[in-house]
Amino acid sequence: MAQNAVYACGAWLPKVFPKIIGSRILPTRQIVYFFGTKAGDTRFSPPTLPVWADFNGGDIFYGIPDIDSRGFKIAHDAHGPAFDPDLREPLGSHRSLEQNIRSYLQRRFPDLADAPLLGVRFCQYENSSNGDYLIDRHPQLENVWLAGGRSGHGFKNGPAVGARIAAGILSPDTYTQEPRFSLATKDKKHMRTVI
Ligand SMILES: Cc1cc2nc3c(=O)[nH]c(=O)nc-3n(C[C@H](O)[C@H](O)[C@H](O)COP(=O)(O)OP(=O)(O)OC[C@H]3O[C@@H](n4cnc5c(N)ncnc54)[C@H](O)[C@@H]3O)c2cc1C
Repeated sequence: MAQNAVYACGAWLPKVFPKIIGSRILPTRQIVYFFGTKAGDTRFSPPTLPVWADFNGGDIFYGIPDIDSRGFKIAHDAHGPAFDPDLREPLGSHRSLEQNIRSYLQRRFPDLADAPLLGVRFCQYENSSNGDYLIDRHPQLENVWLAGGRSGHGFKNGPAVGARIAAGILSPDTYTQEPRFSLATKDKKHMRTVI
């Protein structure tokens, strides 16, 4: 039988721990867009184009180059509506939001402003109050760990989060809890400061 348990349930974490986490993590949904690039045009593929983020005076857009002809990925990093990750809602509103993306493309990637839209996907953010991660022990159960609040930027740091929790479990005497990742710093009022 396992001696420790790690709950890394993404957008479902507030539902799994409604009393402890509840509204401290707010799932929202954003739409990411994939645009086609012209055959033979390598300007929007690696290694020419890196993964990028334009902080744009606080109104952030980000993207990933065209990998394996999946398309040039771009999204507006503004929180969308709150949602229930167990409900499969249609991507109904993406057309109006697409215009916002195309306006941005016109300004920063003008050669893609009229590119064909290859696809759209939901990107679910599980936002902590300040945008920083939750990596902490359950407040009442010493051998239970909570990992979440990835706030839309959790994929890249997944291995580091796993390593941190493994260190906490395997070497508890030398492990120190990073204050910024503690449950105590996760408020119910959402004011994102970590991007
Ligand atoms: C379209 C899209 C684009 C993204 N782009 C980026 C990006 O460019 N860069 C980046 O860093 N991040 C990106 N993200 C965010 C990133 O994917 C998440 O932050 C990351 O996946 C969170 O990892 P996680 O392991 O905490 O949770 P998840 O990956 O959400 O995994 C949670 C798991 O828990 C399971 N689960 C939930 N409840 C239960 C239960 N009761 N019992 C058993 N299992 C349960 C779920 O099925 C799921 O498999 C993107 C996400 C999406 C959807």
